[in-house]
Order: sequence, then C-alpha cells, then structure tokens
Amino acid sequence: MSRTLLVRLSAVAIALGCAWIAYTQAPPQQGKQQAKQPNNTISKVADDLYAIIGDGGNSTVYVTNEGVILVDDKFEYDGQDIVDKVKSVTNQPIKYVLNTHLHGDHTGSNERFLPTAEIIATKNARDNMVKNKAPGVMRVVFTDETDIFLGGKEVRMKWYGRGHTNGDAVVYFPALRILASGDIGANNGPNVDYANGGSMKEWGATLDGVLKLDFDTVIPGHGPVSKRQYLIDYRDIATKIPATVTSMVREGKGKDDIAKVFTTNGGLWANPNVVNKLDQIMAELKN
Ligand SMILES: [Zn+2]
Repeated sequence: MSRTLLVRLSAVAIALGCAWIAYTQAPPQQGKQQAKQPNNTISKVADDLYAIIGDGGNSTVYVTNEGVILVDDKFEYDGQDIVDKVKSVTNQPIKYVLNTHLHGDHTGSNERFLPTAEIIATKNARDNMVKNKAPGVMRVVFTDETDIFLGGKEVRMKWYGRGHTNGDAVVYFPALRILASGDIGANNGPNVDYANGGSMKEWGATLDGVLKLDFDTVIPGHGPVSKRQYLIDYRDIATKIPATVTSMVREGKGKDDIAKVFTTNGGLWANPNVVNKLDQIMAELKN
C-alpha cells in the first residue's frame, strides 16, 4: 500500500470515527431542548472517601477493593459526570447507591445505576417515590438499619425518625468517623417536606438520635463538608424552632411576629425554606 493511500485511508477512518463519536455522544432530544451541563467537583475527604459537590445534593464516594459505594446520585443529567468523577479516583465499579431520601436532586440518576448497582433506601423513602411516581425506584429497602460489607469495609445506613421527610436515612462510615447526613442536615433547611411525611416537631429529636453516632466529619445533603459541631448546632436550631413557634403562638403572637424573630435570628432560622413554611409549621404544632 502506498504511503499516500495509507494517509488517505487513515484520514477517512478518523473522519468516520469522529462522526461515530459525535453520533453516540449526541444528547437525546438535541435541538428540542438543550441538555443541562453538569457542574461538579470531586474532593478527597479521607482515605478512600470523596465528596462530589456541585449540582443537586452532595454525593459521597466510598472506594473498596470490591467496588464503590455511592451515597446519592444528584440529577439525571449528572449521571455520566458522577461515573467520570468516580473513574478519576478508582477503576472500581459503582456497586451500591444509597439514597438518603426520595427527592430528585438525590435520586435523579437512579435509573442509570439500577441495571448495574443495588440501590437502597428506607421503606418510607421508597413508598414516597412510588407515591410521587419518581423514576428509578429501588429493589431493596430497610426500616431502621442496614449494613453493607464490601471489600472488608463497613457502611451503616440508619433511620432515626422524621425530619425533612418521613424516610430520611443517614449513612455512617465507622472506620472513618464520617457521616453523610442527607437533607436532615442540609444547609438549605430545616426544610420540611410535609407532603412526604416530614416534621419540624420531631426533627430535633431525630438529630438527637443521629448524634449518638461517633463521627467527627459531616457531609451534609447540601453545603460544604463540615465538622460534628455543625450538626450539633443544627440540632439545637431544629429543636428551638418548634419551641419558639409554640410559645409565641401561646403568647398570642401571629405569623408575622414569628417571621420577624426568625429573620432577626438569621442563619438557618432565616432560611426561606423555613420562613416560607411558617403556616405549615404552625399548623403541625397545633396538633
Ligand atoms: Zn431533599
């Protein structure tokens, strides 16, 4: 074969290859609707444990020599990016996906992982997904606790009671003293999803249970990786919010007075997810 012909054939092969790549990588519905671009970063939190932070809820990645355990999988459009980010730190496949609760910013890539991984959540979280017709419903559920043993490592997934929903699980990595709290400790809360069984009244007591675990580091459902003290402060506020509402209502104060106190207190108190739900919080506390 002449060198010129070889060069020409190579050029054709490259052109065909590019066309094939362009074809296979073209997002579905291109032209109709621009697919959202993922925007995430992966960072090391401890040996073999990473946080993927950016879109939606935070994901946690625990690497073992028998596969990866992933906590929460963000939105549907983040699925490939999660796979790529995990590949940047290990060749191990994602074997388990642990969902902290039903919301689509934590379960959005479930459908993608279901064929190749076991997805686990609380029974209540699964019931909520079925009720809401959410995609990617898991095959495996638990009520109070389930443990995963993989590659000589242990992960504990536990339910302590109602808060953000009625099906919030926390994921505990005992060897590392790290907790992935889900939205029961998210920095955009305490945001009660009443339609899915959440409770402001019980949230503090639920975190009392969580704080019996021995951990130093918290990866919240949203927000930066934090220390244990973050969740202690969160528990204190989640306990004081219903107590304050109850006592102010008893004093004859109305919603506007309560909102004023919350806004003045600032921080989590002043979060729109709290202040905008005062009607519902007051209704719950009447019972
Ligand atoms: Zn949520």
